[in-house]
Amino acid sequence: MNFQSLKRSLVSVFKNIPGKRIGRKILVIEADDWGSIRMPSKKAFANLVAAGIPVDKSRYGRNDALERSEDLEALFNVLSKHTDQRGRKAVISPFCNMANPDFGRIKENGYQVYEYETFEETYGRYGSTNMMNTWKQGITANLFVPQFHGREHIATELWLKALRMDDKRIHIAFENEYASFSPAGFPAQARDFRPNFYIESESGLQGLKRSLEEGIDIFKAGFKCSPDVFNAPNAVFVPSLNSTLIEKGIRFNAVPHKRLERNERGAYEHKNYVTGQESSEGLKYYVRNCNFEPSEGSYKGISHVLSQIQGAFLCGKAAVVGTHRVNFVGGLNEANRKHGINELDNLLFAVVKRWPDVEFMSSKEFSSLL
Ligand SMILES: [Zn+2]
Repeated sequence: MNFQSLKRSLVSVFKNIPGKRIGRKILVIEADDWGSIRMPSKKAFANLVAAGIPVDKSRYGRNDALERSEDLEALFNVLSKHTDQRGRKAVISPFCNMANPDFGRIKENGYQVYEYETFEETYGRYGSTNMMNTWKQGITANLFVPQFHGREHIATELWLKALRMDDKRIHIAFENEYASFSPAGFPAQARDFRPNFYIESESGLQGLKRSLEEGIDIFKAGFKCSPDVFNAPNAVFVPSLNSTLIEKGIRFNAVPHKRLERNERGAYEHKNYVTGQESSEGLKYYVRNCNFEPSEGSYKGISHVLSQIQGAFLCGKAAVVGTHRVNFVGGLNEANRKHGINELDNLLFAVVKRWPDVEFMSSKEFSSLL
């Protein structure tokens, strides 16, 4: 072990000291953002770059396409190659967004009212007719067990507000069905309108409550199962909506160490979390204590995440690895998918070799131990 990896392991140990110990070497992989369109096509990407929208500067802009059957199947192949000592295959818990904007209807109503299509409708519109079968295969084989990331991945209220302004670039983005561009003048905390739970006033709360309820209903109708765990996009949330999550059957919340939350005075401030913590409504929290982002420019191989996993295990904590769809899809850039899948393969191989008693678990199985 070199000095850098020793240092990373020590930092990870320090971060993992607080919170509930499980005392078993459990590996959970949680990947966010499935279901959302993000960058619709190579053509849209080229149009946006030509209009001066810097999507080429972001790994999401370059790589984060709607998933296709072949992306999911490539993941299933890698996951099923690796088994733990109980004979359980590796598993990813994809956190899903269940809807995308209905651009036609929003334009028709003069950008006054947010309208959406379900993720199944989006797949249909993109010509991916076999997607729900592919999802079903992953769920049935316990390789790809979905959880909930919100109805859509867009701060809809702010996005519509921007669309009602006279800004040429946001309308070019809209015409290319791209919703993740915020013009100047919008709060940094709501950058690119990605955090759906960022609102400017109390009047947005009802809409957020409805979006949670409808999102969970679309999840159940599409996947034929219920979500157990929620993760708030971009680590921004409104805790007064905890009761809505509980009412809709979600009992667990995967969080980073620190999350931005709207308080009773309407201001957003950071709140710290530890694993095992419980809200007054009975929602249990667990912290994602590792991260794996092979499409990140600064990515230098699996040693970083291995140090984090080691830190978690040394403290008797599960290793909960956060990652994103952008690392594993190839609709815009086939090389991106190959790289991400290859790194995942390397990671799983290294984990089993280093910790032969590791246990692969979905978020559903892991959270039931808390
Ligand atoms: Zn997300």
